Amino acid sequence: MSANVMLLPENVRHSLILFRNELRKYGIQTQITSTVRSSAKQQKLYEMSRRGLLNYPVAPPGTSLHEAGRAVDMLVRPESQLPLAASVGRQFGFKWAGVRDKVHFSYVLPIGGLVSGFKRLFSRPKTPALRALRTKEAAFQSGKAQVRTFTSLPKHCR
Ligand SMILES: [Zn+2]
Repeated sequence: MSANVMLLPENVRHSLILFRNELRKYGIQTQITSTVRSSAKQQKLYEMSRRGLLNYPVAPPGTSLHEAGRAVDMLVRPESQLPLAASVGRQFGFKWAGVRDKVHFSYVLPIGGLVSGFKRLFSRPKTPALRALRTKEAAFQSGKAQVRTFTSLPKHCR
């Protein structure tokens, strides 16, 4: 079952399309399983999670980025490519939640407005904000998953 990406805010949806197109170039398949959630839906998932019925963590209602339209859950295949997918995601403003919630990507752009976010999207990720993000993300991951970084961006991203 695929989730409705049309519910996402336009900037998030647009970045997600670019992100998934890029993954396809690496032969990585994706399937969106959750996008925007109502508080009622979040409540339901939270209760299921507390009863041990789900194998991924669920934030309490009112605190999830899914409720704000700033997160997507996406299956990545093959799973061995998750570190690469996380690395590609950063180029498009998506921060992978790590192995504890391996389908979850938070949209962390734009930081400080749409225009600067857009510029950041098409520039090399050498800004302090993105470096800090990379450090945080690395810490969040379970250690053994080595984060690969790009030495160069695809031509259209330069
Ligand atoms: Zn999620």
